Amino acid sequence: MHYDMLLLRFGEFTLKGKNRTRFEKAVLNHVKLLLKPFPGASLRKEFGRIYVVLGGEPYEQIIQVLKKVFGITTISPVKMAPAQLDEIVKTAVELMRELNVAKGTTFKVNARRVWKEFAHSSHEMNHLIGSPILREFPALKVDVHQPNIELRVEVREQAAYIFSEIITAVGGFPLGTNGKAMLLLSGGIDSPVAGWSSMRRGLEIECVHFYSYPFTSERAKEKVIDLARVLAGYAGRIKIHLVPFTEVQTAFTRTGQDNLMITLMRRSMLRIATMLAEREGALALVTGDSLGQVASQTLSSMNVIGRSTELPLLRPLVMMDKQEITEIAKQIGTYDLSILPYEDCCTLFVPKSPTTNPNLWVVQKVEASIRDLNALIEQAVAATETVVLEAGGAMEGRKEEVVQEDWF
Ligand code: ATP
Ligand code: MG
Repeated sequence: MHYDMLLLRFGEFTLKGKNRTRFEKAVLNHVKLLLKPFPGASLRKEFGRIYVVLGGEPYEQIIQVLKKVFGITTISPVKMAPAQLDEIVKTAVELMRELNVAKGTTFKVNARRVWKEFAHSSHEMNHLIGSPILREFPALKVDVHQPNIELRVEVREQAAYIFSEIITAVGGFPLGTNGKAMLLLSGGIDSPVAGWSSMRRGLEIECVHFYSYPFTSERAKEKVIDLARVLAGYAGRIKIHLVPFTEVQTAFTRTGQDNLMITLMRRSMLRIATMLAEREGALALVTGDSLGQVASQTLSSMNVIGRSTELPLLRPLVMMDKQEITEIAKQIGTYDLSILPYEDCCTLFVPKSPTTNPNLWVVQKVEASIRDLNALIEQAVAATETVVLEAGGAMEGRKEEVVQEDWF
């Protein structure tokens, strides 16, 4: 197939005026960022649409990338022709030939005269384009109600656009239009999905990961970086904060409160994540908790753990089944990484019988008994290392974007 352009349609953000403009701009910036590795492609924006002029770049690969852009609902690859009837017919026939229509395939032409000076009306064009196609492809039949192929033709002053395919994209709200949140990212199946769900609702995400070297391996940390890199494929770029958690964790093991270990660790994680969120201007924390999945995710545990932060605690997966979560993980490309066997800092310290019903008062007593807990937490924040990951696998310092600014 040969295409000249991709047509991207926005979702109905159900917003008007200023907000709509802001949302459309956010999508445009996101598209720009993801098209960096395709320097031949350029962008053009129109009310309710974005056009990607391919400039010889591979359209299939670009569609795969743009299907991930939040706020885009559908994508159509488009052929362009000069705005003259004979040229339009020629290109329409070419497109039909490339579609390789089988016998009995039904079709209709849906033409639209956007440029009012054009000699033929929309209605006339349906016939003027449809008839030569039918002559060329005897296998085709017309069906104006539910055709297999709807050939769309839009005639504008500069050119005519001809397309038939409509590819469903991810939808949702444009990235970052609902603010920024800090995602607690483990190496598991759930938290990457929670991150993706948050981004799809328009949140910009930064990740925080806790590791316990030497109890957890370097490879476990790399696995989480790889997961964050998959998320960067949706965001263009993503920051991950890597927190050394060994000292805090071992302070808790010394208390001998085995069945409270997870509760204590989670509370400290949230406290550290809150400090990082405040530093980075994030207004909420996101976790992959799902109600009842494990001991630390009972309502009672969530209550005691959640009290360690004053930030809103978002749990996008809270009412979802493991099976639904796994489905999404597969679709977004995190599943295969998540099931790699490297241990997480928490699994290592999981007691035989973690409590499902921790007592807040007891938990606070244990925390108060560790005199240097606040200092350990502050040290962990101070020793946190931040990495910026970019879509396509490269680390920070990629070459500057080559999108033609004069299109806007
Ligand atoms: P996941 O699959 O996301 O690991 P899970 O069902 O295994 O979730 P837990 O391991 O109990 O559940 O973790 C609950 C949530 O706590 C995770 O979804 C994640 O948001 C956070 N979390 C757990 N371990 C870590 C870690 N080492 N670093 C950052 N966040 C973590
Ligand atoms: Mg886990």
